[in-house]
Amino acid sequence: MRIILLGPPGCGKGTQGDLIQGKYGFPRISSGDLLRDSVQRGTPLGLQAEAFMNQGELVSDDVVVGMIQERIGREDCQGGFILDGFPRTVHQAERLLEIDHGRDEIVLDIRVDDQAIIERLSARRICSGCGSIHTLREAAAKEPGACHACGGSLIQRDDDKSEVIQRRLKVYRTQTTPLEKYYREKNVYHAVEGQGRIEEIFARIEAVLERSVPGLALKAEASAKR
Ligand code: ADP
Ligand code: ZN
Repeated sequence: MRIILLGPPGCGKGTQGDLIQGKYGFPRISSGDLLRDSVQRGTPLGLQAEAFMNQGELVSDDVVVGMIQERIGREDCQGGFILDGFPRTVHQAERLLEIDHGRDEIVLDIRVDDQAIIERLSARRICSGCGSIHTLREAAAKEPGACHACGGSLIQRDDDKSEVIQRRLKVYRTQTTPLEKYYREKNVYHAVEGQGRIEEIFARIEAVLERSVPGLALKAEASAKR
């Protein structure tokens, strides 16, 4: 099973992807996390990607496809996986079929309007210690500037600065939304209302998954045993 999460930046794909991973056992693969990791390690791929990411532009398809291909070729992905942030263009979706053909797929599009996105991303901070995601108001209430899980300092992603947020949204609306039509035509597309409490949204996702993928819980068990 291949679960593809679509939705604008800051729609909650990462949070919901982690919950899906926790319940069904499939590993969540985030193209953004893989890229940020390459940037931090200063690999050639990271050096190539960094400027595009900081400007809110997409990294080239070849770079991203190669990176995803390497990741999903590993043992833990054999029984299925969750893709967060990939594919982001119709061309990437076509390449995905080439590198991982013959697998069932389901697409969950987490819908959140632009105004809510801008508010969320401007308030988003990442823990430099454990990588967890915080919303400024909530984080500041507990212990200003520090992660309540590990005490690490909270930092803002370079691309969460307001000019870059606008650009990322624009890139999403022009380059990624054509995937809706693409996946609707393949009959694997499901829209999920992405506003509300985290648990409410996850309940919507569980309902779609369990309705659309018969035996999902069993498949997940098989994959967890590997
Ligand atoms: P968000 O979805 O919140 O914008 P991500 O962490 O998914 O954040 O991505 C951050 C950046 O990484 C993107 O703005 C883009 O530059 C790059 N990126 C991530 N995934 C892809 C992809 N599939 N294709 C091209 N670029 C990507
Ligand atoms: Zn932390």
